Amino acid sequence: GQPGVSPLPAFDPELPAFIDGRGGDEGGRVLTRAGLRDAALRLAGGLRTLGVRRGDVAGLWGFNSLEWVTAAYGCLAAGVVVSPANYAYAPAEVAHQFNDAGASLAFVDPALLANFEAARAHLTHAFPPSHVILICPPAEKPAGTPYPCLAEILGEPVEPEHFDGAASNETAWMSYSSGTTGLPKGVMTTHFNFTSQLQAANTSYHLDTGPGGDVVLGFLPMSHIYGLTIALLQPLTFGAPVVVLPRFDEIQVLDAIQKYRVTHGLLVPPLILRFLHSPNTAKYDLSSMRTIMSGGAPLSPELAAAYEQKFPGCVSIQGYGMTETTPGITAMNRTDVLGGGRQGWVGRLLPTYQARLVGEDGADAPRGGPGELWVRSPSVMKGYHNNPQATADTMALGAWFRTGDVLVRDEAGWFKVVDRVKELIKYKGFQVAPAELEALLLTHPRLVDAGVVGVYDAAEVTEVPRAYVVAAPGVKGSEHAALAREVMAWVAARVAQHKKLRGGVVVVDAVPKSPSGKILRKDLRKRAQAEFEGKPAAR
Ligand code: ATP
Ligand code: MG
Repeated sequence: GQPGVSPLPAFDPELPAFIDGRGGDEGGRVLTRAGLRDAALRLAGGLRTLGVRRGDVAGLWGFNSLEWVTAAYGCLAAGVVVSPANYAYAPAEVAHQFNDAGASLAFVDPALLANFEAARAHLTHAFPPSHVILICPPAEKPAGTPYPCLAEILGEPVEPEHFDGAASNETAWMSYSSGTTGLPKGVMTTHFNFTSQLQAANTSYHLDTGPGGDVVLGFLPMSHIYGLTIALLQPLTFGAPVVVLPRFDEIQVLDAIQKYRVTHGLLVPPLILRFLHSPNTAKYDLSSMRTIMSGGAPLSPELAAAYEQKFPGCVSIQGYGMTETTPGITAMNRTDVLGGGRQGWVGRLLPTYQARLVGEDGADAPRGGPGELWVRSPSVMKGYHNNPQATADTMALGAWFRTGDVLVRDEAGWFKVVDRVKELIKYKGFQVAPAELEALLLTHPRLVDAGVVGVYDAAEVTEVPRAYVVAAPGVKGSEHAALAREVMAWVAARVAQHKKLRGGVVVVDAVPKSPSGKILRKDLRKRAQAEFEGKPAAR
């Protein structure tokens, strides 16, 4: 049968699986593969004693840690579905997820305990003290709390629940999408989704194991499918150790790279930008780094190139995917060194994926697109939890899943992300991709960031593109109006007629973004429409 994502495949059980990468007294602890297996099976035994059953849902709310990993694997071994929440969520947001997921058990980081108590006002489930388990080692348990920590509920080790063929199509995990376009959606990921994704991913950007092999850095939230697969499941499955950090902290990250000779890092574009300009990178020995992987949001060609120049010997590779596809759809090989005119592209399809680029009429787009990417793969989720409408909208078409993203493909099978279908601005009969205008604006010498959205122009009876731009340091507030006018003309001289910024240009302090670098265009659009109708900016 098809094994689930746990228990672990056969490797030297004494190899380190996860290392607590924090500096000082707290850090340095090692969880070996045998240690994790043992703790997970004993936690599963403890959960059974609590009355928790296969198919129950556990909410998991915390920063990355050895205990977070143990809690997740204990649940998997018990057949309990894990629904991990972003540590940055506000109480009402975590409550929305736990309610929607139907969680009856909660694992909570002590650092988030006050927020969890605040969330209780919104939670539909009561969560008695026995069912709130603190994600921490006994030494870090706060005094006076009524809740047990992981070590206190370990029981007799059990046989993993789902380790049989029949279980492979059971939901193992329920991550929520990032909520960029609306409320986050619960994504039902099966054991089979994970195992097929991991095999596919490792044939693409495979990890080297054994002496001198890869050491992976894990600070991106494992609650997101991207951090989960690349910084937890892939290294664990294929035998590379992970240095775990609770969150991004620049000095802690640099320190851990140097100390543990990290080779493989997983980043999102805003952090790549930060490393590029950081005065601290020169103070550390980062020579062990071989690959930086970027995904989740567009990585501009300029940024990828600048990064490789600053860190010679370290290639930056890009991948593209989404929560619903567990997540990788395309990726570059680690040997696909950028520089050959490939910056800005997201690689080729992972094995197991089939793809179509589809036009608005539902027919295949002309060769190479652009078109909406539809995919078929054993890594495509079972469906959205509690949301049959969204499932039907994206999965009703036979085996094809609609990604909602527009891509192009070249003759060699490389893909490039154009934009989301819903973000395309419809100017009269034309379609304008805001991401294309943003990329152009970023090359303007006096701009450092840009976000473009469509606003409805009632007089012209059409949508028009409007840009929010951030001026480079040194541009004075009194120069903003002139800069906005100049940018409009500058863009108009470089794009086709229909892409001109007819909706205006506004200089702002910052473009609203998610932590992974996605422009929150739904927020920007609201603001833009109100401002456009009120007092048009430079036009
Ligand atoms: P929601 O579905 O809740 O609105 P979301 O789509 O942002 O949020 P995720 O599943 O975290 O949630 O993100 C997947 C999306 O991120 C993709 O559909 C795509 O639009 C974008 N994306 C991912 N990787 C890349 C990349 N390399 N370049 C450009 N965009 C990317
Ligand atoms: Mg999405």
